[in-house]
Amino acid sequence: MNRGIYLDNAATTPLDPRVREAMLPYLEEVYGNPSSLHWAGRQAREAVSKARARVADLLHARPGEIVFTASGTESSNLALIGVCEAAGVVGGHVITSAIEHPAVLETCRYLENRGVAITRLGVSREGIVDANELREALQRPTQLVSVMTANNVAGTLQPVGELGRIAHEYGALFHTDAVQAVGKIPIDVTAQPIDLLSFSAHKLYGPKGVGALYVRTGVRLAPFVHGGGQERGLRSATENVAGIVGLGRASEIASAERADEAVRLVRLRDRLIESVLSLAPQQAYLIGHRHQRLPGHICLGFSGLEGDAVKLLLALDAADIAVSTGSACSANHGAQPSYILQAMGYDVVQARGSLRVTLGRFNSEADVDEFVKVLPDALRLLSPLVTIGTGMAWKGRR
Ligand code: PLP
Repeated sequence: MNRGIYLDNAATTPLDPRVREAMLPYLEEVYGNPSSLHWAGRQAREAVSKARARVADLLHARPGEIVFTASGTESSNLALIGVCEAAGVVGGHVITSAIEHPAVLETCRYLENRGVAITRLGVSREGIVDANELREALQRPTQLVSVMTANNVAGTLQPVGELGRIAHEYGALFHTDAVQAVGKIPIDVTAQPIDLLSFSAHKLYGPKGVGALYVRTGVRLAPFVHGGGQERGLRSATENVAGIVGLGRASEIASAERADEAVRLVRLRDRLIESVLSLAPQQAYLIGHRHQRLPGHICLGFSGLEGDAVKLLLALDAADIAVSTGSACSANHGAQPSYILQAMGYDVVQARGSLRVTLGRFNSEADVDEFVKVLPDALRLLSPLVTIGTGMAWKGRR
């Protein structure tokens, strides 16, 4: 199996061995259905309930406010469709931002086709929603404001506290897609004006195929998965017990280690940013806010090479370094311009060509240094004209 350097933690994270360990008994000996009344059911039920408490702890929520789902995408669908259906869809109004993940944007489009008015707020060059623009949009009666906590391409953090307070001032609920943020920045739903929050285990060193939605007590939601009434009737289906146990253990680890890990990742992130900017000062630029960004998240552009982002990714892949472009792309068709970067004011050419490098729990300084070492050759391969500087970070290792 390929054991290259993995710098694509925003796409998904490796499973933490401690999470795997916690899950194993629930794939084997503890096989009961949590709804069954006998001993086997009781074992599974207790595991789900313990996991729910651990997940709730991470957000400072109550266990009864956590609904387990199959993904971050499903959580956001439940939040948006659930609020609109509970309020009566036709004539409703939802406000979101232009840079949301498709999990929110496509759900908004679905709702729009069913009679809900959607306002999509623009963002600044750094990718931040303007609070005044939100106030303006709220002049029209609004059921829900949905703005992500952290952007999956640029890594920029939104002022969710301020945006949530404004939403509440106008009587709207506030939802945030926190898939990229949970476990990486502090989240406290008792102190923040958040009514609904989506997240996903596989961005948190947990398994794929399990997510959760925080639903503040008292918020009315209509379910769209109907059946046996699990998850307080909000999401019927026999629970993914092993997955839920994994999300619980992943949350417990994040609660204990998040603060120290964030300091470590910020140091690695800034080392990488400064090294790249000093290596190619004519070409490299940072996308997103310099400081108001996720601890391990870097998004870079290389002027003149934007059309070649996929080739750059493949050149790095040939050196066993996994990164991502900031736009929808495939090896065959090249990169499509990113709607996120276009909303941030980048032109079509620039929006085709960002490189997303995202660090995580299992990355070390050596991984960052290897990336910085390999990058100039990958850039030169694409364009011999690229001026590679001899910045401090580079000089030291030559
Ligand atoms: N929201 C954001 C911001 C994401 O980055 C992602 C995944 O990349 C999702 C939602 C979707 O999460 P899931 O893969 O669990 O459906």
